[in-house]
Amino acid sequence: MKVIVADNAGFCFGVKRAIALTREVVKRKQTVYSLGPLIHNPQVVEALQKEGVKVINTIDGIKEGVVVIRSHGVPPQMVRKAREKGLEVVDATCPFVKETQNFVKMLSDEDYRVVIVGDNNHPEVKGLLGYAKKAVVINSVDEAKKIRGRKIGVVSQTTQSTSKLINVVDELLKKVEELRIFNTICSATVERQKSAKKLAKDVDVMIVVGGYNSSNTRRLYDICKTICSCCYHIERAEEVKKEWFKGCKVVGITAGASTPDYVIEEVRETLENM
Ligand code: SF4
Repeated sequence: MKVIVADNAGFCFGVKRAIALTREVVKRKQTVYSLGPLIHNPQVVEALQKEGVKVINTIDGIKEGVVVIRSHGVPPQMVRKAREKGLEVVDATCPFVKETQNFVKMLSDEDYRVVIVGDNNHPEVKGLLGYAKKAVVINSVDEAKKIRGRKIGVVSQTTQSTSKLINVVDELLKKVEELRIFNTICSATVERQKSAKKLAKDVDVMIVVGGYNSSNTRRLYDICKTICSCCYHIERAEEVKKEWFKGCKVVGITAGASTPDYVIEEVRETLENM
């Protein structure tokens, strides 16, 4: 069975940066807290916990130490609160997410109603909402149909698919008088989606590796599934099942932006040894 890994797969720049910044703080031997899991990969979060990074969901009750802001960002009110408490804040928000936060703030300051294309429950989206005076989150064309307003500004969660953003914007264009759009899907997401699409066309089975809570991994799975019906989302090599590969000659692997290289390698080795 031939195993091919997608050209662009695994750790992106934002995730690498967040991990590096956190490890720098760990070296200082201070108490380090991460406000929510630093990235959406349980194996990496667990490794960081072993190095001393404590994951917290609120800074209530924290009196000292360093608070690292996760790659997905947080609402500005949370950062302010941490600083007011005298805590040192290390901002590991991905610069692409930061840029989206700035667009949301700017649109809001200019009295646009902000439409965020994304998942309501995702931490990045919750963070973005904190920058808007008036905002709504939509995740489908059907939801776009319900939007009304004269001045609408659109941004996207950085890990959405371009086709969804295009379809939503297309719907909004039909009825909104003034529409301002910022395509904030990050380049790492676009590259990974393109490579995954290309590979999924040429394989019998496609394996998508990454955290079950990772938005960009789930999107890769959705995209691959539409092209290759034998598609599986796993977090670890141990989850691979022999019966998935009956009659399979070529298997493709792609991985979300928060999947470490060693996990991809373990999956590759497992498949090659089958
Ligand atoms: S997927 Fe994109 S936005 Fe998210 S951390 Fe990576 S580079 Fe940043």
